[in-house]
Amino acid sequence: MTQHILQASAELRGQRFIIAGGGIGGAAGALALSLRGADVTLYERAPEFKEVGAGLQIGPHGVRMLEKWGLKDKVFAAGYLPERMQFRDAITTEPILTMDFDEDFQRHYGGRYLVIHRSDLLSILVEAAQEAGATLHNGVQVLGADTHADGVTVHIEHRAEGTREDVEADILVAFDGIHSVFRGEIVRDEPVPSAYVAYRGTSELPTDPDMSGLKDVIGYIGPRCHFIQYPLRHGELLNQVAVFQSPRYLKALTEGTEVPDDWGNNEEFRTAFDHTHEFIQGRLGSMWLDTWWQMSDREPLDNWVVSDRIIVMGDAAHPPLQYLASGAVMAMEDAECLALYASQAAAKGELDWPSVLAEVSGERAPRCARIQITGRFWGELWHVDGVSRLIRNETFRQAGRTSWYRYVDWLWGYDAGRREYLRDPSKGELPEELQEWEYQIHKIIARREGEAAPEELTI
Ligand SMILES: Cc1cc2nc3c(=O)[nH]c(=O)nc-3n(C[C@H](O)[C@H](O)[C@H](O)COP(=O)(O)OP(=O)(O)OC[C@H]3O[C@@H](n4cnc5c(N)ncnc54)[C@H](O)[C@@H]3O)c2cc1C
Repeated sequence: MTQHILQASAELRGQRFIIAGGGIGGAAGALALSLRGADVTLYERAPEFKEVGAGLQIGPHGVRMLEKWGLKDKVFAAGYLPERMQFRDAITTEPILTMDFDEDFQRHYGGRYLVIHRSDLLSILVEAAQEAGATLHNGVQVLGADTHADGVTVHIEHRAEGTREDVEADILVAFDGIHSVFRGEIVRDEPVPSAYVAYRGTSELPTDPDMSGLKDVIGYIGPRCHFIQYPLRHGELLNQVAVFQSPRYLKALTEGTEVPDDWGNNEEFRTAFDHTHEFIQGRLGSMWLDTWWQMSDREPLDNWVVSDRIIVMGDAAHPPLQYLASGAVMAMEDAECLALYASQAAAKGELDWPSVLAEVSGERAPRCARIQITGRFWGELWHVDGVSRLIRNETFRQAGRTSWYRYVDWLWGYDAGRREYLRDPSKGELPEELQEWEYQIHKIIARREGEAAPEELTI
């Protein structure tokens, strides 16, 4: 199946958008809206457009959009197209599920599976947004905004000069990340740490004697930890991610004592993989030790609309745990959904912003809630121990033998154009068989607060 490439159009001509935040979400938003003729200004508070960390997996749900925006050649040239995704047991290294990204996969999902360096993807999106006509500024912080009858006044600060200014727009899209200032106008919540921490690292692939033939995404999953490897930049770089549960974080959470700021530090990292196969232990020497990522998400939101003229998107609306490798893809889906629904309404002469924002939120919030909740479940399934691990491995083997598509179609086969969650918001919930499942972190907090018995803590 070939993806239709969007031709630049003019449905949103005359509509002024301000985007707060120039991560992958904001840059994608600037591109998708500019391609429909909108007048887009993006403000990023950092002095340059920069992504920290290394690789990103982009499933076919993201690749189809990149193709639609005309970026297929660029992202394929910058990234790597793995042949398979392999799940292996982290104690034995035995493969338990192999997902082929072959022609049948490509036909089924209408797209490839791509892995790409974060900074390469961001540069491609930023450049494409500028070519499409968007104006992107660095060093500008969005402080807040006031909605009025026919638009929004956005308060910004030029950080280097320390000067403030008010800017007018029709719509403000807040792609301002997990610590979003605009999310706080919908709900007063906090990030939910998962007790897991990620170490990352890149190294040369062709000269690595153990890894030079790597063509796949490989995930070693094991008790309280996992380890991911895949090639980047046409196979020049090896991307590795080592994730483990921090005993110190878990202890503080369980006992209700103060959480140390540096949970997941190098001292914990050094022993976190002692129970895994020696192959994994031998790979940990190439991880970066100066930075680690304490992994948090937030509770799903059922409404993203801040006011008739402001909406939150990307991690500001739905920061996920990383297990379904879809945080950046969801942010791109948000961008395309907003641009699509607004341009469709404008083409019919029915561009009413409160209705468009409500429609976008109605479609996207349940979709992203399901990804956030399933991500928590998927992470717990990766990290089980004892007999649960053996049953998990057998279930994975069976899924490999039959077909795993049916478990993933909802995630990788999505197209906002079908408005499937608007038609049926209950699709945003976990499938019926899983609805009794409860997130381990919720259980620990409930037990601490006297609302759950200790035996309810076993997975
Ligand atoms: C370990 C790990 C692995 C991951 N792997 C994957 C993966 O394989 N695939 C995938 O799809 N996703 C993955 N993700 C998730 C993905 O990285 C994020 O979901 C995604 O990058 C979010 O993009 P965003 O633009 O919404 O937010 P951000 O990237 O957080 O960008 C927000 C931007 O807004 C700026 N900003 C904030 N406040 C303001 C303000 N007031 N004014 C101006 N600018 C502001 C910030 O400086 C920042 O640049 C992973 C995440 C982690 C932690």
